[in-house]
Amino acid sequence: MRPEDLLCPTPKGLYCPPGDFYIDPLRSVARALITHGHSDHARPGHGAVMATQDTLDIMRLRCGENFAGRTQAAAYSDTVTIDGVAVTFKPAGHVLGSAQICVEKNGLRIVASGDYKDARDPTCAPFEPIPCDVFITEATFGLPVFRHAHAEVEIAKLLQSVALFPDRAHLVGAYSLGKAQRVIAMLREAGHDAPIYLHGAMEKITHHYAARGIPLGELRPVRGAKKAELAGTVTLCPPSALQELWARRFPDPVTAFASGWMRVRTRARQHGVELPLVISDHADWDGLCASIVATGASEIWVTHGEEDALVHWCETRGLRARPLRLVGYGEEETEETAADPDADDASASDERRLDDIEGADA
Ligand SMILES: [Zn+2]
Ligand SMILES: [Zn+2]
Repeated sequence: MRPEDLLCPTPKGLYCPPGDFYIDPLRSVARALITHGHSDHARPGHGAVMATQDTLDIMRLRCGENFAGRTQAAAYSDTVTIDGVAVTFKPAGHVLGSAQICVEKNGLRIVASGDYKDARDPTCAPFEPIPCDVFITEATFGLPVFRHAHAEVEIAKLLQSVALFPDRAHLVGAYSLGKAQRVIAMLREAGHDAPIYLHGAMEKITHHYAARGIPLGELRPVRGAKKAELAGTVTLCPPSALQELWARRFPDPVTAFASGWMRVRTRARQHGVELPLVISDHADWDGLCASIVATGASEIWVTHGEEDALVHWCETRGLRARPLRLVGYGEEETEETAADPDADDASASDERRLDDIEGADA
């Protein structure tokens, strides 16, 4: 069996002909397997959805009760057979409930990893490399210049700033699923035990994480808080809110943004960010390369992001590699900044992005 007979890229997403299902389909389909709850992977309107219970819960919170016709929860490491195809969900270390999906038939095994990271994250199960024949990897930060700092170091920077400016509020822009909760959990690990404030858009998902037993400490809504009360505190908000009228309720705010893109100075400037925090839920270049090697796969398919550099790296290692050119992924990190009036068109900012990477040695 050729790999393309087990999983093939189509305009609707990766399709498994023998199992008649799609992985993270971009349009409505009869049967979908979903890696995680970010909106570019988890779209509403499919006939049947199989995902981890956390991903199903997150989809329900984000898309409403009727997000799918039928649902089936997949437990990590349990194998389910769909029309002769063995399917296993394994942790991807990206956000709560995130999974790699392993499909196997006639001794051929392909792993679709969705989005993943190999860095530590107290809010989700750690990434597990799965031995396979074909590994499908994302490439969001697939350039050698992308090397994320340790998130702990970035959290320490934030706490230093809070200590240095006790009269100012600290506003931290973070994606509302995953990043915001990871920042809060890491602040708690670092010993910050004051109440942490939440923008309204963060509340549902964050309380879901807390209800799942992730220690987030005391959380308060910003709504209704007095300006003076917010001095010296930390608030999590969607990145777009940093530049909105909403931010004016805070006393002399220090604006921070937690994202892998904060490695790129123009991005930080575009968002008017005073305190960029390089904290990413995607593997960096070293993480991508190490994960590829760890799977032992002889063939690598590369999707969303900087495909070409990673394909080239694989080829220099003697691995067969191809870009999938699937269009429509990789938008979760921009969805909440879509209203940014200063956002440039993608190509122009991409070009400058490469010129402007801090510590770029190329
Ligand atoms: Zn994602
Ligand atoms: Zn994604």
